[in-house]
Amino acid sequence: MKSIDLLNVVEIFYSIQGEGANFGKPAIFVRLSGCNEHCWFCDTDWSHGTSMTIAEVLKAVQQYPGKMIIWTGGEPTLQLTDTMLEHFNGYFHCIETNGTNQVPSKIDYIACSPKVTPKTLRENFSSVDEFRYPIGVGETPPRIEELPPAVNYFISPIFMGEEKKRFSRSEENMTYCIDFVKQHPAWRLSVQMHKLLNVE
Ligand code: SF4
Repeated sequence: MKSIDLLNVVEIFYSIQGEGANFGKPAIFVRLSGCNEHCWFCDTDWSHGTSMTIAEVLKAVQQYPGKMIIWTGGEPTLQLTDTMLEHFNGYFHCIETNGTNQVPSKIDYIACSPKVTPKTLRENFSSVDEFRYPIGVGETPPRIEELPPAVNYFISPIFMGEEKKRFSRSEENMTYCIDFVKQHPAWRLSVQMHKLLNVE
């Protein structure tokens, strides 16, 4: 349930964006708890959180010099509203969403890693800034013509930690995705560089 001035927060930290078109840009990450999907390859523990007021979140954000906030999760659209974003004047707001819901209109940059069909994406978005499809060997993203317009269409090799490597081989996924974009040049490769660089 959305509350007017409370957010359930997993963590707030300052780092660089490790993937997609904003790779390398400093950003304040606000990870919200809860998700409406249960992807087998999920690399985030979004099941816990601390209830914080908007004022507390703003205070935590303001301790960093960066001016870009990445609202992530979990699935941030389950909690985040335009009313909340009004408190964060002067920030550039990015969201990382699974595409199941529309995003608040005050969001400046939409990075969508879809877990829904192209039809649902067309219903929820007139356009996005980037799509990022997690891809393993043998998988393919939808046809671009089926998707809402985007500035960038990425595929992202599923990149597993040691504990899940028996399910999917990161190296094979990478090789497969590189070959895929070479064969389908409208797509770009996005690698989860933060995992290789060992930053948050
Ligand atoms: S949609 Fe994203 S956050 Fe939610 S379970 Fe899937 S990978 Fe994890």
